[in-house]
Amino acid sequence: MTTIPFFFQNTKSGKKERFQPKDVNQVTIYSCGPTVYNFAHIGNIRSFLFVDVLRRSLLLGGYKLNQSMNITDIDDKIIAESIKRNISVEEFTKPWTEAFFKDLDTLNVQKLEHYPKATESIDDMVSLVETLQTNGLAYEREGNVYFSIQKFERYGELSKIDVSGMKSGVRYDADEYDKDDVRDFVLWKNQKSESEKCWHTKIGNGRPGWHLECSAMIRKIYGSGIDIHTGGIDLLFPHHENEFAQTTGAYPKEEFVGTWLHCEHLLVDGEKMSKSKGNFYTLRDILEKGFDPRVIRFHLISAHYRSKLNFSLAKLGESKVALDRIQNTIYRILDTYSFWDEIPATFEGINFLIPEIQKLNMDFLNALADDLNLPKALATVFELVRIVNQSLDQTSSEKPKEFFKECLSLFVKMNALFGIFQFQKPESDSVDGISQDWILEQIEKRKVAKQNKDFAMADSIRKELENKGILLADTKEGKTTWKKAQ
Ligand code: AMP
Ligand code: ZN
Repeated sequence: MTTIPFFFQNTKSGKKERFQPKDVNQVTIYSCGPTVYNFAHIGNIRSFLFVDVLRRSLLLGGYKLNQSMNITDIDDKIIAESIKRNISVEEFTKPWTEAFFKDLDTLNVQKLEHYPKATESIDDMVSLVETLQTNGLAYEREGNVYFSIQKFERYGELSKIDVSGMKSGVRYDADEYDKDDVRDFVLWKNQKSESEKCWHTKIGNGRPGWHLECSAMIRKIYGSGIDIHTGGIDLLFPHHENEFAQTTGAYPKEEFVGTWLHCEHLLVDGEKMSKSKGNFYTLRDILEKGFDPRVIRFHLISAHYRSKLNFSLAKLGESKVALDRIQNTIYRILDTYSFWDEIPATFEGINFLIPEIQKLNMDFLNALADDLNLPKALATVFELVRIVNQSLDQTSSEKPKEFFKECLSLFVKMNALFGIFQFQKPESDSVDGISQDWILEQIEKRKVAKQNKDFAMADSIRKELENKGILLADTKEGKTTWKKAQ
């Protein structure tokens, strides 16, 4: 399969550039992943869905990928929480790591080739620190090891931060600190108390600083520099600047990253969604409100990754209407021509012979190749929706059956990106976009409420289902069944 040329807005150059990976059959991509101390909020999830969009777009473009996302399973918050609960760091992070993967599954995010954990890469981090010490860029104070920003001339090159006024030798050893604060950052942190998780290593007893893990894992997995590095825009400085400094400081002859891509924030009422501000929704919060995961995925990926996205439940509702329109069109073709058993299994091998469909296919791919322009790609989906509906509306359609089959194949191909359209008979999974799993969960919750004699809660669950057109009936045997209101 030949590859389509892609163009990306590279943070490093500040320009849109032709993407030139070292090997199209092994494109190397690393993304900063979650810190596993809580449920991810949907802002975090937006950045993980962006990674999925990048992956699926490049696969559609004919590239083969070798992709990683790290799991930060050691940091100040994790240590504090595990000490508070009197459990080990591993016990504390395990359920949150599982919750992260469950969220990705719920949103139909494709599995990557690697999910390295910080705690499994300590040796690689220690050896990176040793290389930096050998190169004269790292120094030790009271058991902590710091990176000396002044000794690394290229500091600031990636984020374009101005370091000219910086004070020399000012140190910072926390895992989180303010943007625009240029200080020597900690590579290795000395153990402060007996209860703190600690590794006994050649550079001391302690644990790594947060920035170190990504540089070390990239080295461990890929052996050298990579084609693409992604993360949310808030990671550009200091996290990515520090990653760049660490790796380039250790291996000055190599290019660390070819293309840096940064995803914009999800906002609530104009402010960044974040745990510290308390203005966040988790995926569970939104599923609880009865939204289908497909709608959530659709909503979070539809905006351009470099645009801020202001989140509201009303806007999510608009995405449901838009997705229903696409889905109904797909069902309309399937119903009209009974194509149910003729759906291509994958987008590979689909060929389009009809010029009108060929053009839409190319427009769709070109939109993706143009810095992952999802709004433009979505416009081609709606153009296909329009063409199909118009052609089916004509009483004596001039279009042959083959035309609609190609339209359906193009929907299948588009779904290799969107991952939300359905091609099976609808009753198998959801009722009017409400997932059966959710309905069953509500029935279970109502049962528990009744057992606890919380009848107000039981009634409110029944009412909520009724408002969505789902009626409950309790049988004599104590079971509850449901049906759609007529
Ligand atoms: P964390 O788990 O806090 O390390 O963050 C994981 C990812 O979520 C990082 O790439 C962050 O840049 C990203 N992120 C954090 N808040 C938001 C937000 N409101 N919108 C989009 N991405 C975010
Ligand atoms: Zn990172």
